[in-house]
Amino acid sequence: MLSDISEVLHVSPAEGGAETGVGFDDRAVDSAHSSSASGSAVLFKGQTFQLPRAFTWLDSDFFPEGAARVMAAPLISRRTRWLPFAFLHLGALSAFFVGCSWTAVSVAIGLYWLRMFAITAFYHRYFSHRTYKTSRPAQFVFALLGLMAVQRGPLWWAAHHRVHHRLADLEGDAHSPVVSGFLWSHIGWITADRNMPTNYLNVRDLARYPELIILNRFDWLMPFLLGLSLYLSGCALDVYCPAAHTTGNQMLAWGFFLSSCVLFHCVSSINSVAHVWGKPRYPTRDASKNNFLLALVTLGEGWHNNHHFAMNSVRQGFYWWEIDVCFYILKLMSWLGIIWDLRPVPVEAYDPERQLKRPERQLK
Ligand SMILES: [Zn+2]
Ligand SMILES: [Zn+2]
Repeated sequence: MLSDISEVLHVSPAEGGAETGVGFDDRAVDSAHSSSASGSAVLFKGQTFQLPRAFTWLDSDFFPEGAARVMAAPLISRRTRWLPFAFLHLGALSAFFVGCSWTAVSVAIGLYWLRMFAITAFYHRYFSHRTYKTSRPAQFVFALLGLMAVQRGPLWWAAHHRVHHRLADLEGDAHSPVVSGFLWSHIGWITADRNMPTNYLNVRDLARYPELIILNRFDWLMPFLLGLSLYLSGCALDVYCPAAHTTGNQMLAWGFFLSSCVLFHCVSSINSVAHVWGKPRYPTRDASKNNFLLALVTLGEGWHNNHHFAMNSVRQGFYWWEIDVCFYILKLMSWLGIIWDLRPVPVEAYDPERQLKRPERQLK
């Protein structure tokens, strides 16, 4: 098992882990990021595929100074890391200057729901919590769909999320509004160098798959292809299907930028809003809340206090009136045989003794 993981973490005997007999220390994590002087490498079945140094900037998980050093850096926001967010928001604003069409609006809405489902069902309920099982090819497709959401790679996402549950609203939780303030929990935490590397130690189970590592490291590729294909399809519709009343710029602005921007804020609201506003049902040691409105726009993630009480349950709306569209679709996928072994809500969740009394729910 250890050697398997060492392999996909790019740990060669000469690089650290195996040589020291430790297996997984900071140097092993460093090796996972291939931050050696030789540049960015991906190891697969014993073969190392080296990217030329000139192309290391394509690897989102390459840190010249070493990933371990970056993860130990002071927790401060870097101004240049706000630029991608500024770009995303300017792109979203451009939607109001390139005209509007039912085609572009429908694509924007469709891509919002598709990618919200990919984040909730795959990044969160599968990669982060393993609340159900699936095949290796399906897992790969799940990762591709999640990457389209422009929220970095599945291993990076899951690694941070697992820490969130372990240290919820305590020192060390990367995005706690209680510890670090609302704005930091919503967006600021992604502008800190320290939170940029993927901590492979937190996702050893996923790091067994080289294909996932590669997708995780080149996380920009799927968003780039999505934006490009939207632009090209808009150009093609403009020329060959004037009845669609759309253009390349329109499809890019509405379908990619505006849709991705709204998607980002709704997903981020689970980190920020769902730890501030709403009502808790369970006396968890964190500030998580259940929030009906958030559950609607996130396909069920708004039942966040339920989720903190039983994070291994595939279902987050524990009662029939707690709408959890993500779970309904996952159930359908299980009937089709795409996924299986869905983990149920634990019986203690329905024990009134484990739940807060109604006045306490209001107060907490
Ligand atoms: Zn939470
Ligand atoms: Zn979770």
